[in-house]
Amino acid sequence: MAIATQARTAFLDELRSALPDLRLLTEPTDTESYRYDETEYMHPGMPLGVVFPTSTEDVVKIVRLAAEHRVPLVPRGAGSGLSGGAIAVDGALSVVMTRMNRILEIDEANQLAIVEPGVINADLGSAVAEHGLFYPPDPASFETCSIGGNLAENSGGLRCAKYGVTRDFVRGLQVVLADGTLIETGGRTRKDVMGYDLTHLFIGSEGTLGIITRATLRLIPLPPPKLTLLAFFPDVPSAGEAVARMVRDGLVPVTLELMDRFTIQAVDAALHVGLPEDAGSMLMIESDLGGPAAETELNRAAEACTGAGATSIVRAADAQEADWLREARRKAHWSLEQAGVARMEDVGVPRSRGPELLAAIERISATHGMRVGVFGHAGDGNYHPTFVMDRDDPDAERRINAVRADIFKTVFELGGTISGEHGTGVAKRGYLVAQSGEDAVRVMRTIKQALDPLGLLNPGKVLPSA
Ligand SMILES: Cc1cc2nc3c(=O)[nH]c(=O)nc-3n(C[C@H](O)[C@H](O)[C@H](O)COP(=O)(O)OP(=O)(O)OC[C@H]3O[C@@H](n4cnc5c(N)ncnc54)[C@H](O)[C@@H]3O)c2cc1C
Repeated sequence: MAIATQARTAFLDELRSALPDLRLLTEPTDTESYRYDETEYMHPGMPLGVVFPTSTEDVVKIVRLAAEHRVPLVPRGAGSGLSGGAIAVDGALSVVMTRMNRILEIDEANQLAIVEPGVINADLGSAVAEHGLFYPPDPASFETCSIGGNLAENSGGLRCAKYGVTRDFVRGLQVVLADGTLIETGGRTRKDVMGYDLTHLFIGSEGTLGIITRATLRLIPLPPPKLTLLAFFPDVPSAGEAVARMVRDGLVPVTLELMDRFTIQAVDAALHVGLPEDAGSMLMIESDLGGPAAETELNRAAEACTGAGATSIVRAADAQEADWLREARRKAHWSLEQAGVARMEDVGVPRSRGPELLAAIERISATHGMRVGVFGHAGDGNYHPTFVMDRDDPDAERRINAVRADIFKTVFELGGTISGEHGTGVAKRGYLVAQSGEDAVRVMRTIKQALDPLGLLNPGKVLPSA
């Protein structure tokens, strides 16, 4: 979809004159760092330019001009995505939303926050905590990722087993459509069933249906400080069995995270947290019920772990130690990256099938001779098998494709999904029909065609080539 040089120059000239204060980068040395997201194995295109709007009005003008000149647009938040959603497209303008980063209002009476999309997830958390309020969705990247990216990916995180994902905390959106039309969806009310639910259509649409310029987010009262427990197991399936027991027992701890032996060793080598190197796997379990209820919840979790064969169970000594342990879990991907090129997958199964999935990942990876670290949101049945390859392995791509194809096949057989939270992007679009079926993908194409008939918003993402 690259446009000719003359048309490109005309578009950029008009953009400069319509928005003289807009930060616009066009030199390849300046745009380079905006070509990639965290999928370092992707092959991004060369953008026409990179812009940084500071207001909804800027976005409307940019999108209108782009539509007139048929210039494709790539919306972009903080670039922490793991499916290639924000990677640059040849000849497209990347629209970086990070300068629209104001928290416009914290409405205590209605427990809402109204924010621009560039607000960093952790900054929102800190700001609402000062009002005794809480925004639960917390991707492990919470200190860097933006709310706009969270909305566009419908991101999950470490607290979602109990509270739900991003989608569950959105009341309304302001969205700029592909032709520059500005719409508002939803609002401040708890209930609203007028018309189609457009809010939830845009959530998870990965920048392919509109650019989100504002969001009204649901907050809840700040829960008590967490109590933290670690359980160590001889192998991965026994940790999976402990999770299945907790689910059966009706336990819903706020954190229920897993790391396998390879990940434990990588994290400890990188961060020196003192995790036992001989453990086959580890569960991190936290309760935010407060007081005796938290004690009871963790005691019941410990019983489930013991019943599933845990070799040791320890409590974090204090809040600081718990913070370190949480940080260690959040750094799992980064730690595995220290051992080579790490490619993270994002598979999810019904929680009762977790032990089967975990056993299959081990078996399939061994068959392919692939080093794999598995960690993830066990309470959601959402795991991140992360394949680690030598940096100079010329056969890496072929080997990865073979192992992931076998794992995806197993995931489908278990009634699961090949992306629980990272999105389809470029990384998974080739599997969309296999996951969702021809008819569902046809409906998705119809929606895309209705909202973006010229195909200008984030082309080449989510939907497979026709
Ligand atoms: C170490 C690490 C840990 C992570 N842990 C988690 C985790 O626990 N859970 C999880 O779900 N994800 C996780 N992620 C993935 C990633 O952080 C999330 O997908 C995050 O929501 C992306 O936000 P971003 O601002 O970086 O978006 P980007 O990567 O910039 O963009 C992501 C997508 O959103 C679109 N987009 C961005 N802003 C807008 C907007 N305003 N309007 C429309 N579309 C927009 C882009 O086009 C793209 O398709 C992790 C990533 C890393 C690197």
